[in-house]
Amino acid sequence: MNRDKEQKAIERLKSFEPETEPYYLCYSGGKDSDTIKILAELSGVKFEAVHNLTSVDMPETVKYIKSQNDVKIHIPRNKDGKHITMWDLIIKKHFPPTRVVRYCCSELKEQGGKGRLKITGVRADESSKRKANAGMVKVIGKPKTMQKKAEEMQLDYEVNNKNGLVLNYDNADTRRFVEHCYRTTSTIVNPIIDWSESDVWEFLNHYGCKSNPLYECGNKRIGCIGCPMAGKQRRQELKRYPTYYRAYLRAFDKMLQARKESGLDGVWQSAEDVMKWWLE
Ligand code: SF4
Repeated sequence: MNRDKEQKAIERLKSFEPETEPYYLCYSGGKDSDTIKILAELSGVKFEAVHNLTSVDMPETVKYIKSQNDVKIHIPRNKDGKHITMWDLIIKKHFPPTRVVRYCCSELKEQGGKGRLKITGVRADESSKRKANAGMVKVIGKPKTMQKKAEEMQLDYEVNNKNGLVLNYDNADTRRFVEHCYRTTSTIVNPIIDWSESDVWEFLNHYGCKSNPLYECGNKRIGCIGCPMAGKQRRQELKRYPTYYRAYLRAFDKMLQARKESGLDGVWQSAEDVMKWWLE
């Protein structure tokens, strides 16, 4: 196991720890979030692990998360307190989520933890897009103000394609910057940004964590059923969970009705047409 990386990740967690409240640890029920949870325990920082239910989580994942007493489950709600589901979003947005427009992540997964300093298990080697978009620290929101502040502090930063600020140096200035901005933006610390998949598995094996049982069933990725980011795995998932397949079809049906009422073009004639397009 790579002890240097483990120590570095622990140091990162310690150095960015907020003074007055625990970290908000984004827990998905996958191997990377198990890794940051164990690292947070080892480092002795205070944290609150939270899973945001998306309504299309795999049942095995929900069971795995519920089996852990130290993970809270958060149900995303709108301003009126109504539970937001994937089905509602598909109807409201008039099209299903795609790789390019993943509205569901921001509305379902990233809703919790406002005004808190977040930690996630994002790793750069997961995809080239992540490599370009993430860093050890990522700040989203108030781009102009944050860039001005970063300039004033002479920080070495990059701007990603979503106007987020990415910082990769763990030093006193970066820490002060994080302290300054995390209340008013979405600020994320990624302690294992430079870990590989094998680093993660070696670490988990060392600490006796088998992680989500779905990995033993051959899943490479733990996410939502039908997630547009899951590539070929999506078709298998929808076959494995026919209730969700049917629920998507019902949502597509209602979405087509909503499109008609809004005067949108009839690109799709039926829910099955939408499904075919969506899975292509
Ligand atoms: S379906 Fe994929 S993109 Fe949407 S919330 Fe789930 S993980 Fe995020």
